[in-house]
Amino acid sequence: GPALFQPERPNSQGFDLGHAPTLSRIEAARAPFLNHSWRASPLLACDAVPEAPQTVTNPADGSAIGTIAQASPQDVEGALAAAVGWDAPAAERATVLNRAADLYEEHFGEFFAILAREAGKSQPDAIAELREAVDFLRYYAANIPDAKPAGVFTCISPWNFPLAIFTGQVAAALAVGNAVIAKPAEQTPLVAFRAVELLHAAGVPRAALQYLPGPGRKIGPALTGDARIGGVAFTGSTATALHIRRAMAEGCQPGAPLIAETGGLNAMIVDSTALPEQAVQSIIESAFQSAGQRCSALRCLYIQDDIADDFLTMLTGAMECLSMGNPWQLSTDCGPVIDQTAQDRITAHIADARAQGRVLAELTAPDTGTFVAPTLIEIAGIADLKEEIFGPVLHVARFKSHEIDAVIDAINATGYGLTFGLHTRIDDRVQHVCDRIHAGNIYVNRNQIGAIVGSQPFGGEGLSGTGPKAGGPLYLSRFCAPDRQTTGD
Ligand code: GLU
Repeated sequence: GPALFQPERPNSQGFDLGHAPTLSRIEAARAPFLNHSWRASPLLACDAVPEAPQTVTNPADGSAIGTIAQASPQDVEGALAAAVGWDAPAAERATVLNRAADLYEEHFGEFFAILAREAGKSQPDAIAELREAVDFLRYYAANIPDAKPAGVFTCISPWNFPLAIFTGQVAAALAVGNAVIAKPAEQTPLVAFRAVELLHAAGVPRAALQYLPGPGRKIGPALTGDARIGGVAFTGSTATALHIRRAMAEGCQPGAPLIAETGGLNAMIVDSTALPEQAVQSIIESAFQSAGQRCSALRCLYIQDDIADDFLTMLTGAMECLSMGNPWQLSTDCGPVIDQTAQDRITAHIADARAQGRVLAELTAPDTGTFVAPTLIEIAGIADLKEEIFGPVLHVARFKSHEIDAVIDAINATGYGLTFGLHTRIDDRVQHVCDRIHAGNIYVNRNQIGAIVGSQPFGGEGLSGTGPKAGGPLYLSRFCAPDRQTTGD
């Protein structure tokens, strides 16, 4: 069920970079990687014959940060033929995954540098991301079920959590003893490459973990519609998940699981009893942290009419305090969006709203790289949003107290169900709203991003994903052979 009222708790054991004295330690550890150039290519259990290397660029300024040699069709076939499940005893697999977690922690300076330079992650985002990756490794290592692996698992991960979600999928599949073919997002191959190198160094056999970078359009079909594939883990768009489901239906053994985490149109309701400062802070984080590039991010705020004018004044004031800039700078709150395609799509949406006179507030973006300024847009209701805008754009709608059930119905009618936020001081209302909202993760009187492994399993329903939730007790069972799998959430 939804992660109701679950308290936040420190997530990593003994890995605390969040307090001031460690800042100089972070600076020192990542400094050598400010101008470092990474070179990534397929890591296969056979000889790779990749394409010519291409430049990987920093979204903050377009500078080159390394190269990626994409897998060729021949490499896809080679990886499928060379994949061998990890048949070490469960206790040994757990030891190796924990050793990988240690290596991730040791390499924090390099990871923070790549996350900033390749994915545009602000420093707090990079810290949270490495913590989450480490937590996935340790959590799955600690919870290996007594079951058979499904076979060869294809793991297809997104650019928005290129280390945490990449690692979560791979660690889950490996914990159970599957062979993994990991395809990182096209925009963020370098951080995944380093992660795989460390997993190998920790002791994961090369035949059990292969790294296969390349464009989804080109290598995706062969990686998802093949009789040798035992299952697919995917995080990305709902449309791509449907493509994968079709490819699997045609090519895979019946019963091969698809574990998909997809999009959302996440809403928050703030009523007139909410604490304004707390709600504003929660909204700023939920909508604009990670430049709004989280599946969990807030897209549509419903604010009760009685307090809307004052509240929006506070909210726009808080927006104006956000600092945009190069994520390498510790002062940066909001980095760039991932690439030009994303920037064009988001700015077209904003331009459309501007033409209709619906833009309430808009910051000024730096003119290097692919920045989009945090923007507030007024709408009548969530039904006005035809698609998820994956960036720092918050939509706001007003409602009257007696309309709350209609608001809930409108939110549910989108068909998505990932995160939902509620700010109220009325206990009965908390119960009433949470009983009716369809969402995987519901957060009350706090922000609605940053689910914590083991404490807040993360995943959606409806168009937002298949379940079971990542970082929760049922996730690993889906990576097991069909006869032992449990369904549902
Ligand atoms: N787990 C992340 C969160 O709770 C979101 C993951 C995603 O964007 O896919 O914010």
